[in-house]
Amino acid sequence: MGIETVVIYSEPDSDALHAQLADEAVCVGPAKAQDSYLNIKNILSAAMITGCDAVHPGFGFLSENASFADLVKKCGLVFIGPDGDVIRAMGNKSEARRRMVACGVPVVPGSVGGVDSLEQGLAEAEKIGYPVLIKASSGGGGRGMRRVFSPEEFECAFSTAKAEAKACFGDDEVYVEKLIQQPRHIEFQIFADSKGNVIHLGERECSIQRRNQKMIEESPSRALTPALREKMGEHAVMAARAAEYRNAGTVEFVLDKQGNYYFIEMNTRVQVEHPVTEMVTGVDIIREQIRVAAGFPLSMNQEDVKLRGASIECRINAENPYEGFRPCPGQIVGLHLPGGPGVRVDTALYPGCKISPHYDNMIAKLIVHGPTRADAIRKMRRSLEEFLIQGVETNIELQYLILHHQDFIKGRYDTGFMEKHLDTLVSY
Ligand code: ADP
Repeated sequence: MGIETVVIYSEPDSDALHAQLADEAVCVGPAKAQDSYLNIKNILSAAMITGCDAVHPGFGFLSENASFADLVKKCGLVFIGPDGDVIRAMGNKSEARRRMVACGVPVVPGSVGGVDSLEQGLAEAEKIGYPVLIKASSGGGGRGMRRVFSPEEFECAFSTAKAEAKACFGDDEVYVEKLIQQPRHIEFQIFADSKGNVIHLGERECSIQRRNQKMIEESPSRALTPALREKMGEHAVMAARAAEYRNAGTVEFVLDKQGNYYFIEMNTRVQVEHPVTEMVTGVDIIREQIRVAAGFPLSMNQEDVKLRGASIECRINAENPYEGFRPCPGQIVGLHLPGGPGVRVDTALYPGCKISPHYDNMIAKLIVHGPTRADAIRKMRRSLEEFLIQGVETNIELQYLILHHQDFIKGRYDTGFMEKHLDTLVSY
């Protein structure tokens, strides 16, 4: 778009690719995220000193921090994302549920608002019927969640969920909802401009998860018929309208075996898995985010959105799946990236770069696109074979094995896939 960019980095990231490639780079503090990538004062100072007009929060770190969005605005800068108030409302999952109920979007049966006491929790669980899920209102990344199968287990699960929520998110509020059995995770990419236009860009299926963390995402989902896609898409748009949403966001649902779907949460930022939507719709989501934040209307209507072919993304992590997914930081000594038509690698790896132990261990995203799902699977397998990373252990081989699993090939999988098959997948 011809827009000059300034990036921020922490002390150990001074050699990171983003810091080397940007027009300008500013160090915002030492390794500890709290002191650098989460240091609002330093980040805003960096933006002001370098004369920025707008801030893109990316994903992770401060991307869903309502106070950060508010402060960006207060400094006279544009926040590329929704308003702080919307982030705040949707960041509290029980509040988000309340709003969805009010506008008629189906939510998982459960408590309205947070649950204050053990007695209230037990009563809610009894009403919903076991099994239930205790979830942190401020939760994220799959943490602060406990499955409960009987009243006897409730008390212990309630107190550990609360303690985990307090430790991870500084807020011990939890709520109770029905545990949907063998669900599929289906999410819709939505987009809203400041003129009142709201559209969706189809769905992503993210059911290949380990401990509620996504590993493989694809679009379109094998589980949706065109009619179901239309209905869920309409509900996703309704959810965005009810939240008075602006910019790009994601409405997440779980889908049960009978084809019932329920809202679980809304993410108020761009997702790690947004490239699969870009591949099937041809829309550059980040570009559109910047345009919308600058006050332009959406560059397309719902009728213009066409899903073409099939796309799959594999998250590539520096970890050892054969040793309990132990993180494997270190230095990259050799690197070969796959390529060719319909192959995209989003990464900041380069030969000689160091993967620091301080941050998330996702080091690349491999995305493919093909005319059919079978083509996309073949292309992903070939790309994983060609993707060579030397110096650190990765999950490339595990992804390759999943791409050969009968259940994955047939698209007959749910969020329990990894739990069910991990031992066999890593057993040789
Ligand atoms: P987080 O914000 O921590 O990622 P989510 O609410 O998005 O939490 O849920 C993460 C994952 O947990 C979902 O993708 C799904 O696999 C599982 N999950 C969440 N709610 C339910 C539910 N009610 N029943 C079954 N599984 C659920």
